[in-house]
Amino acid sequence: MKRVVVIEGEDASPEAVRPVVELLRSLELAISWEFPPIGAAARASHGSLFPQEARDAIDASDSTLFGSTSGPSGPALMYLRWGKQTYANVRPARWTPGCASPLKDPSGIDFVIVRENLEDMYVRVEGDLETLRPLDLRSPTAGRAVNDMGPGRFALKVITEEATARVTRFACELARTRRAQGHPGHLTIGTKHNMLPASDGYFREVALATAREFPDVAVESFIIDDFARRLIAEPQALDVVLLPNLYGDVMSDAAAGLIGGLGLAPSGCYGDDYAYFESAHGTAPDIAGQNSINPTATLLSGVMMLEHLGFADAASRLRRAVDEVYTSGLSLTIDQGGTASTTAFLDAVAARL
Ligand code: ATP
Repeated sequence: MKRVVVIEGEDASPEAVRPVVELLRSLELAISWEFPPIGAAARASHGSLFPQEARDAIDASDSTLFGSTSGPSGPALMYLRWGKQTYANVRPARWTPGCASPLKDPSGIDFVIVRENLEDMYVRVEGDLETLRPLDLRSPTAGRAVNDMGPGRFALKVITEEATARVTRFACELARTRRAQGHPGHLTIGTKHNMLPASDGYFREVALATAREFPDVAVESFIIDDFARRLIAEPQALDVVLLPNLYGDVMSDAAAGLIGGLGLAPSGCYGDDYAYFESAHGTAPDIAGQNSINPTATLLSGVMMLEHLGFADAASRLRRAVDEVYTSGLSLTIDQGGTASTTAFLDAVAARL
């Protein structure tokens, strides 16, 4: 029996998570679903957004299915990411016929972004330039002392050898797995190493050195702006893409745009001991309360979770059912040019299972 914690999140997010969990439960797999108190409800009942009881439930679980948060579920998300050290954010971009891609020919788009999930700018050490004064730093591009630049702010970009090497190993293993499934199995790295040699250059250097442990995985490396152009112009050429945290966050939303939008993009965050799954999109506050959010991203995140938990057959049945609904062109949600509600779309998926 596997244990899964469900965190519904805020705004429109519960409208996707609740019916998706209902659908997953209807598969009657050996999973116990748990709903610990988290967020605004937990503050009311336990006086805390993330009570100990919820943390214990996550620790005792095999995985978490997370919605999206606009704040109240944030402490739980921080724990799932930094507390559980889920360092590899996997964001697949696969186009399915019927999905509303803006490209003339999106056929064959099927790649995965692996985003380093814990460091880079996301260490979130920001501050006033004044606090850097004792360091007496100099900007080689501006040709002047940072102390002469204020008033202003800074943000720290941290790239460590350990975090870069482990996410690179994860990406290379994924490339191998994908090759076994019939994909090219090669790795593309994107960094701004020309402008930022000491940080992005270091990411690239460590990633290239680590990838040499996988001589069967071909590796290419592009400057991130060149990568952005390639992402749009020839996305079919990509297979596994390794990016530092911030570029990975931005580029994966762009990748979601290519395949038909945020409503379609799932993700999984993997560590050595734990993994949790969440749609790549946010809480879509502008459509909250309308039963119109596209639940595909959440459902496909659930499919990734089932694969991770060892329910491969159920996962591929579900994926096929989703693909069939899109191919049929019926029961599509508003973001895909249809008129179906969230629940009507999921009913159509269930009917094809
Ligand atoms: P975050 O910063 O939390 O990632 P965001 O700024 O990317 O959030 P989203 O909440 O993802 O914002 O929403 C961006 C736009 O996309 C909104 O107009 C929203 O309604 C739409 N959107 C996001 N997810 C979906 C979805 N699943 N179905 C339909 N529309 C969506």
